[in-house]
Amino acid sequence: MTKCIVCSPKPLPRELWIKAAESAIAINPVNRPPVHRLTRVMPGFAPTKAHLSVLTTKYWGAKGVKLTVGFLDNPSADLRKKILAHMNAWSKTANVAFVASSVDPQVRIARTPGDGYWSYLGTDVLQIEKSQPTMNLDSFTLATPEAEYRRVVRHETGHTLGFPHEHMRKTLVAKIDEEKAIEYFRRTQGWSPEQTRLQVLTPLEEGSLIGTATADDHSIMCYQIPGEITKDGQPIPGGLDIDNWDYDFAARIYPSSKSGPKGGKKAGKKVTKKRGGGAKSPTRKSSGKKSKAKRKSR
Ligand SMILES: [Zn+2]
Repeated sequence: MTKCIVCSPKPLPRELWIKAAESAIAINPVNRPPVHRLTRVMPGFAPTKAHLSVLTTKYWGAKGVKLTVGFLDNPSADLRKKILAHMNAWSKTANVAFVASSVDPQVRIARTPGDGYWSYLGTDVLQIEKSQPTMNLDSFTLATPEAEYRRVVRHETGHTLGFPHEHMRKTLVAKIDEEKAIEYFRRTQGWSPEQTRLQVLTPLEEGSLIGTATADDHSIMCYQIPGEITKDGQPIPGGLDIDNWDYDFAARIYPSSKSGPKGGKKAGKKVTKKRGGGAKSPTRKSSGKKSKAKRKSR
């Protein structure tokens, strides 16, 4: 058995947070945090720019995503092709395309050993210096199992598309050691204990104010948790491939310009079900009404 490496989301350096949030809102106004809703729930809530930058989402424009992809360590043509193919798996239902380019690529992939699996989130990749990677696929080669391409490349590409981690079910959260988790996310993400409690230690079922009633245990974006913070020392690998929920969500965020998503009957049906702002609005932190569209809340 090879060691299971899990994703550790890559935060921008703090000094870039406000600039990155402004850029995200300029690219897609849907990224603007729902302050009016927050002030309704918390009277007197007067957020600073720094607060707002944390609440800002990082989706690309609803008109579709076309990003150029380059590699920093000159892998073989076969390997490039394989990674690109897995990145483009998202285009089954969503209007997204990743295209190889050696000229100023927007997405830059490294395979640095020991650096783990990570990607910056959505429009944040634009804040990264051009000499630096925006995604790391630790030691990926053509010998890496196909299942790992599905689990890892598709998950990290989800982050590049702006998809955050899924909340987890109670049964998974119960496996996490709270103290170790707080220390781990402080070290890797700069999160306060409150943030870790909210993001990782609050089961979806209990986060109703900000979360959803419908969890997707098998989402490719389900949190991946390293063994060092679980009670039994075993990592939680998260979802193993893009599932129908993921495909539906991707199609809602990046609707295809064609008549409907290409992802089959099920996906098409759900995507047409509008709520709130419809296809262009992820409405991630709203309350009430139907919950399915809110499954990506965090
Ligand atoms: Zn991740």
